[in-house]
Amino acid sequence: MTKTQKDDRAAWAARAEALRPQGQALIGGRFVEAASGRSFAALSPIDGRVLTQVAAGDAEDADRAVKSARAAFESGVWAKRPPRARKRTLIRFAELIRAHREELALLETLDMGKPIAMSLAVDVRAAADAIQWSAEAIDKLYDEIAPTEPNVLALIRREPLGVVAAVTPWNFPMIMAAWKIGPALALGNSVILKPAEQSSLTAIRLGGLALEAGIPEGVFNVLPGFGHEAGKALGLHMDVDGAFFTGSTEVGRMFARYSADSNLKKIGLELGGKSPFVVLASSRHLDAAAQSVVDGIFFNQGEMCTASSRLIAEDSIREELMEKVLEKARAYKPGDPLDPETNLGTLVDAAHTRRVLDYIASGEAEGARLALGGGRPAGLSGECYVEPTVFDQARPEMKIAREEIFGPVLTVLAAKDPEEALRLANDSSYGLGAAVWSDDLTTAHRFAAGLRAGVVSVNAYDEDDMTTPFGGYKQSGWGRDKSLHAFEKYAELKTIWMRLR
Ligand code: NAD
Repeated sequence: MTKTQKDDRAAWAARAEALRPQGQALIGGRFVEAASGRSFAALSPIDGRVLTQVAAGDAEDADRAVKSARAAFESGVWAKRPPRARKRTLIRFAELIRAHREELALLETLDMGKPIAMSLAVDVRAAADAIQWSAEAIDKLYDEIAPTEPNVLALIRREPLGVVAAVTPWNFPMIMAAWKIGPALALGNSVILKPAEQSSLTAIRLGGLALEAGIPEGVFNVLPGFGHEAGKALGLHMDVDGAFFTGSTEVGRMFARYSADSNLKKIGLELGGKSPFVVLASSRHLDAAAQSVVDGIFFNQGEMCTASSRLIAEDSIREELMEKVLEKARAYKPGDPLDPETNLGTLVDAAHTRRVLDYIASGEAEGARLALGGGRPAGLSGECYVEPTVFDQARPEMKIAREEIFGPVLTVLAAKDPEEALRLANDSSYGLGAAVWSDDLTTAHRFAAGLRAGVVSVNAYDEDDMTTPFGGYKQSGWGRDKSLHAFEKYAELKTIWMRLR
C-alpha cells in the first residue's frame, strides 16, 4: 500500500472490511470459547456493525485462567527466568505490536470509535513504548541490603506477587493494558487481562502477539467478558494475588469490597477525574492556554480520565480567554473515525452517548450558558457522535461542574482571584489531573503545591511520559501506574535476615 492510499479513508474502510477479528479468550496458551458457550457481539460505534462475537467469560473461565496462570507461575518457566531474558521477550512483544500497528489501530478505531490517526500515532505507539520501557527497566532494578549491625546480613528482596488480574477500561484499551501488563510481566508475574466488554478486540490480539513473542503459555491470559461476571469473578477469586483496576470510581469501590470479601488480595485503583485547568490573570499566554485546555478536553472525544473538564478562569481575563477557547474548539469536528483527517470520532457506544447528552441537558436545565455545541452534529449518520460542547457561567454546585461526564463537554467557572481559583480547583471528590497557567513563578509554584491532584501541570497540560508516575489523590484512586513506582504494585517485599556466626 502506498503512502497516499494508506492515508485515504477508502483504503482504511477496505481494510476494515477484510479484517476478521479474533473474539476468543486466551487461556493457557490456547484460544478458547467461554466454557458456557456464551458470547456477545462486538458492535462498532461507527455504524453499529457486528465486528465479531466475543467469548463471554464468567466465573468458570476466570477459574480456568487463574489455574493456568498459577501453574505457569509455580513452574518458574517465566518467574524464574533471568530478568534480562524476560526483558528480551518483552521487547520482542513490543516490536510485534509495532509491526502490527495498522491492524491494531484499525481494531481499536472500529471497536471504540477513536480517530484512526490517533489510534496509530498515540495508542499503538504508547502501548508498545510502555511495554518496552518496563522491559528495559527490569534488569536495572537492584534489591537492597539493609544497614544492620555487622554480624547480620539483611536482604530486602522484591518478589513477584504471583497471579495478577488487570481489569481495564475502554477509552485507551491498549495503553491502559500496557501500563499494567508491562511491569507485572517484567517482574515475573502471571497475568490475566480482563478488557472492557466495549473494547475487547485489541486485548485479544495482544494475547496472540505475546504468544508469538515467546511469552510462555499461561503467563499471559486474556479473559473477555462482562464486568459483573468475568471482572467480579477475578476480583473475588481466592487464588488471585493482586487485582489492578482502571475504570470508574463506582467499580473501583467494588474492587475494594471484593478484596475485603475474599483473600484480601492487593489492589490498585486508577479511577475517574474532574480535572481543573486554572488560568490566572498572571498568564500572558492565553492563546496557548486556550489551545491546551481545548486539546485536554476534546482529545479522545473527552473520554479521558484526565480530561481538562473544568476550566477555571480568573475574572479579569475570562472573556478574552473564552473567545480563544471557542475559536479553537471549533477546529474539533466530529467525523468518520476511519477518515485520517478526523480529529473527533464517535463515543464508545449508544448508551454512553445518551449519558453524555443527558449531562448536557442537565447543564442547560441548571442554568449554565451553552456557548458551543450541545447536541448531535448534523450530517453524520450513526448514533454515537456528539458536538464539542462548552458551557460558560457554570456554578460549582452544578452536576456538570462536579461529575465526570467522560465526553466532549467543557465546563467553565469564574474565580475572582487566585485564592478562589485554588479553592474551586480542589472542591472535588476527585484528584487526578490539574493545571495552572501563570507567568509568575512564585504564584505558579505555590499553586501547584496547593493542588490536591496526582499529576499537576504548570503552563502545560498532562505532559507525561513513562518516566513519571500516574494516578490520583482522593477518589481518583490508590497507587500509581508508569515509572519505576509502578513496579511496587506488582511485587512483594521480602526481608531475609541472616545471622552470621
Ligand atoms: P468501568 O468502571 O465501567 O469499567 C472498567 C472495567 O471494569 C471494565 O473492564 C469492566 O468490564 C469492569 N467492570 C465493570 N463492572 C464491574 C464489576 N461489577 N465488577 C468487576 N469489574 C467490573 O469503566 P469504563 O466505563 O470502562 O471506563 C471509564 C472510567 O475509567 C472513567 O471513570 C475514567 O475516568 C476511568 N479511567 C481512569 C483512568 C486512570 O488511570 N485513572 C484511565 C482511564 C479511564
